[in-house]
Amino acid sequence: MSQSQIDATALFCQLLEQDKPEINGQALHSGENKDAAVHLLRERLLVLGKTKEWVTCPECEVDLARVVREVGGDKIMLMCPQCQDVTGPRHLTDTHKVSMPKFQRSLLNGLDLSANGLSVAAEDQIWRLGTTQASRNKPSTWYFARQLFRPDVAARLREQIALDKTTQSCVVLTTSDVPLPLGSPMTEFDVRPLVTMGRIGQSKFEFFADRQGYPGPQVLAQATAGTSLKYVKSEALAFVDGVRFELEPSQQKILIALIDATDHELEKGALKSACGSQSQDFSPSREFQRNQIVYKTVIHYLRDDDRYALVIPVEDAHWLR
Ligand SMILES: [Zn+2]
Repeated sequence: MSQSQIDATALFCQLLEQDKPEINGQALHSGENKDAAVHLLRERLLVLGKTKEWVTCPECEVDLARVVREVGGDKIMLMCPQCQDVTGPRHLTDTHKVSMPKFQRSLLNGLDLSANGLSVAAEDQIWRLGTTQASRNKPSTWYFARQLFRPDVAARLREQIALDKTTQSCVVLTTSDVPLPLGSPMTEFDVRPLVTMGRIGQSKFEFFADRQGYPGPQVLAQATAGTSLKYVKSEALAFVDGVRFELEPSQQKILIALIDATDHELEKGALKSACGSQSQDFSPSREFQRNQIVYKTVIHYLRDDDRYALVIPVEDAHWLR
């Protein structure tokens, strides 16, 4: 399992949560997405869309520059109102969009399902993938839905499950965050975030063997959290290996400061002021005296620079990047 696969899966799930699941070449080829991009392009899960005629100027990174012409060597000539003639890489004009057919095939291959069983409940949004039956287990009917956080999408899926009479056997894969918002029509159902179920592999989505049989409905989100910072802001809770830790106010402030910081790192003084601490000898490790496990798991102290960095749990990689 390579890091590029993990990154590719996280990026791909993010794109699927957008109204238009696409990304421009500039963002796709930027530093943090570079490895993920190679993977998604090779798997053809991203395909070329429209070529853009206006792009953000690579020189000033502020103004919109008009694409004038190609100049060879994979370069293009641009006209920026500020910087005038500018050259830049040709991928600036690319748009890449998610290939839904390719993604469907990848899910079907991952679950060993045939394409005949696929039925589309809502174009590019809700699919029934098919039914699997592991020996001696009850059958599972697999659905995929993106933007399931939207009440209208959840209601549509619920209606489909009722029509299919699969209420007892349905398993829903989604790119949305789980738990779904309170009151979602899909609240009682077995909904699993794709990003925790497996990784994008070669021509198939590689489901983790131990996750496929993973039982149970999504009760409360917290019950499914392994190690996660997802509830730090909303509920002052942190989870480490499934154990829930109630955070003291100062602990919550420290974690929120690191969650919100660029690169999730802060020098000690900056962390102190971000937390609004008046203490003479502010010490994060002491603040966490009563929740040392949380401190040791998610905070890394870089002694040489006197900096604190967040150790991002795998489960949070899709929103904490
Ligand atoms: Zn410019």
